[in-house]
Amino acid sequence: MMKATVSDTSTGKVPLKINVFQFVQTANAQLAPMFPYTDPGAIVPCAAAFESDGKGTHIGYFVHENVVDEIVINYANTGRMRTGDVYVGPKEHGVGGDSDEAYFAVQVITQRQLEEGEQSEAMAFNCENCGTEVYRYRYDETEGNVGEIAGLSALPTIFGSNSFALNVNANEDLRTCKSCGHVSRPFPLHIWGWYDYAFRTNVARKAVEEFEGAIAS
Ligand SMILES: [Zn+2]
Repeated sequence: MMKATVSDTSTGKVPLKINVFQFVQTANAQLAPMFPYTDPGAIVPCAAAFESDGKGTHIGYFVHENVVDEIVINYANTGRMRTGDVYVGPKEHGVGGDSDEAYFAVQVITQRQLEEGEQSEAMAFNCENCGTEVYRYRYDETEGNVGEIAGLSALPTIFGSNSFALNVNANEDLRTCKSCGHVSRPFPLHIWGWYDYAFRTNVARKAVEEFEGAIAS
């Protein structure tokens, strides 16, 4: 008798599992998708790993806005959050921030891509001195998924976050507060890794096309 499997679906997706602690060891970005499903309709568990020495390491802070709920599970934390906490924050939520308390965190943040229609997101940069919003970058589900994607979809949140950080760092005006005149420090993109994810996605897409061309010839 033929045994039905969960993988017999029209989407071609199969159930996958991974150890989150092993995953963050090789993940190239904060919010890296743990599984290769980031297309419309996908449930997207993503992982993050942070640490602060409590001595003012500049981690960076931003506000992320999404139209869907994001479910956070703290797999292991010290500091203000507890190991095992599960929560859903507001659709617009602050992320990061420098801390005078040492802590580390490994989290899984589960996002979702809408089945259809526009999925509006934004990243905002606030003045380090007075908290006034200085710059907001809006993007949608097409960010990172336009043109030749060679079947490799990418998480728009990471591409949008990368564009946000590159813009902020390239233009001092986007870090200059209209309220108090303070010029905030550049965003520490290296801690977040979004550039690496975008860079490797673009290389991998070219590589898939080259590979498929090679085996077809
Ligand atoms: Zn200000």
